[in-house]
Amino acid sequence: MVYGYKRIRRGWNGRYLGFRINCEQVPMLPAWAVRWVWDDPRKIPYLLVWRSRRDDEIKEAVRVARFVPQTNLREAESVEIKRTDGSIVPVYLVWRRQPHGGRSLLLRCWCCQRPSRALYGYKVGNDGRYYKAVLADWQCRRCAKLCYSSEGGALVLRGRGSWFRALEMQYGTTRSERPDPWYPHVFTSPTDAIAAGLAN
Ligand SMILES: [Zn+2]
Repeated sequence: MVYGYKRIRRGWNGRYLGFRINCEQVPMLPAWAVRWVWDDPRKIPYLLVWRSRRDDEIKEAVRVARFVPQTNLREAESVEIKRTDGSIVPVYLVWRRQPHGGRSLLLRCWCCQRPSRALYGYKVGNDGRYYKAVLADWQCRRCAKLCYSSEGGALVLRGRGSWFRALEMQYGTTRSERPDPWYPHVFTSPTDAIAAGLAN
């Protein structure tokens, strides 16, 4: 996965300068996908696949399986996220009671312990000289140091041509839609995955 590199320079506040990865560029594990796994009475693992939105190539794939705890503690409810390199990390579930009944699911970030609607598979890291995107064990956006595309006015379209300026004068600064998060394709049976050419 290529995100580009940026030589490390420290800003006055010790933060990284000029390097950013937007969360929309990184495979996102949404709580709703984990809930599908959790709620499936067949208790089978699901396959989640992130395809490049540019060339449709598979960039990331994980197997999400319900983990059955040895105790009856609610806090121990979790799923196992298995990457194609064989590494397995648990993700703990946090249930929130809804005002009108039912409950919603959040995923606990292992790093800051905060419940989150989504976790991310890459984070901002470095190899000593350059900042770059490195694999993350599914952390929240903040812990992975990911930005939103809209932060810093990145999505403000700079006017080109007179019709654009006229548009801006009429409607104010033109902004494009915020890009969608990079959601996975969810395969609920091995047969589906085989049909999609992902397994055999
Ligand atoms: Zn976190």
